[in-house]
Amino acid sequence: MIESKNPYTGESIEKFKELTKPEIDDALEKANSRFKNWRKTSFKERADLMKRAASELKDNKEEYARDISLEMGKPITQSIAEIEKCAWVCEYYAENTEKHLASKSIKTDATKSYVNYEPIGVVLAVMPWNYPFWQVFRFAAPALMAGNIGILKHASNVMRSANNIQKVFERAGFPDSCFQNLVLSSSKIENIIRDPRVKAVTLTGSKPAGSAVASAASDEIKKSVLELGGSNALVVFKDANISETVKTCVQARFQNTGQSCIAGKRLILHESIEDKFMDEFVKQVRELKSGDPMDEDTFIGTLAREDLAEDLEKQIKDSVKDGAKIILGGKRDKAYMEPTILTGVTSEMSMFKEETFGPAIGVTIFKNDQEAIDLVNISDFGLGVSIFTEDMKFAEEIVPEFEDGAVFVNELVKSDPRLPFGGTKISGYGRELSEDGIREFVNRKTVYFK
Ligand code: NAP
Repeated sequence: MIESKNPYTGESIEKFKELTKPEIDDALEKANSRFKNWRKTSFKERADLMKRAASELKDNKEEYARDISLEMGKPITQSIAEIEKCAWVCEYYAENTEKHLASKSIKTDATKSYVNYEPIGVVLAVMPWNYPFWQVFRFAAPALMAGNIGILKHASNVMRSANNIQKVFERAGFPDSCFQNLVLSSSKIENIIRDPRVKAVTLTGSKPAGSAVASAASDEIKKSVLELGGSNALVVFKDANISETVKTCVQARFQNTGQSCIAGKRLILHESIEDKFMDEFVKQVRELKSGDPMDEDTFIGTLAREDLAEDLEKQIKDSVKDGAKIILGGKRDKAYMEPTILTGVTSEMSMFKEETFGPAIGVTIFKNDQEAIDLVNISDFGLGVSIFTEDMKFAEEIVPEFEDGAVFVNELVKSDPRLPFGGTKISGYGRELSEDGIREFVNRKTVYFK
């Protein structure tokens, strides 16, 4: 049995029976046979259905958001915003796929030569709990619009949301088995990846999960995309607009109770602005309202599971042992962790080296620009970095110095359907969203007429 538990109350929400072997086989068979006619549907037919999925999400956002908050402790206003963003990605691909996947004519010595972007079949998505809807929709919207079929293995603690996502596509009128949620534990994933009816896999999650999934896929010579962890830096240069930057950094670290791959996890400040910045930063973090995720004025909920809060507490304690100082928060109560700030954090400490998945941030001071760049790049992760400066010429000059998949200037790193999203180093490979994302799971077929 797979169980969803409310991390705020500790109560059981629902238990889910895992699929049996014959049921898995049946689901894969249905998915594969659906592909045979889904791939022939027009972009217009798919777009009409995808727009209906967007309407379904908007019309019932409270219903879907409530289950997200119950299952993983996300404050309800943030759950509603997540559902709205899913509607946006559906609309975006409904409007743009025909353009993204239009055949590209290429002049050669042929009478005619061109590239077609054709669907490949059933794609497995292995997804995490932190944005239970958004992570899945940013895969599902382009996959279905491209003419592929989606099967989902969602995180075990958000199975009700996983079933709800299948419901969205069913209510929108998608043909049976275009998108199926498979209620499974992760031990069953390898066999599914190896099944010949499954053509590719995308995973959003941790490095160990990514490594297991990508190993099985590469063994079978199947394409994989990995969106793994991050430890984004927030770099504040001496000329930054302090009040704007503080506001942005608070959001970057503490929204979604800090459980975001692209959260700003390492605050890197120029020594000359340390005092002014920290006075304001501590004040604003202290004002963040913790409470019941179901209350509309709650900003900090619980972590999604108690063990995740324990992990974060250990990272904080280890860093303190190594010389960091807690200047705010630091206490845990079951799955709840106080918003926490540590100063004196160095690149050898857990708070800097490891991914911290919750409402805690370490502060590191730099003296010159090169030192700041080195502190960003020393991380094993490479998802994104935010830099704060008023000098746009300087910003443009240093963008190429960063090894990350994204550089945001005077803004927190965020995903946007119009922009490619993905990392470097142990943050993974491949891209989601935008034209780059939809082209990950298509056959770029070269066609040549003599
Ligand atoms: P996780 O433990 O890696 O789980 C992610 C998914 O992988 C779940 O569905 C999980 O299923 C499954 N899984 C775990 N081990 C597996 C294995 N050996 N083989 C196959 N599947 C396996 O990660 P999480 O704790 O849920 O999520 C947090 C992590 O995700 C963080 O590192 C975060 O940074 C990363 N993340 C990355 C992005 C991005 O876009 N780059 C976005 C969000 C989150 P079970 O739940 O059943 O174990």
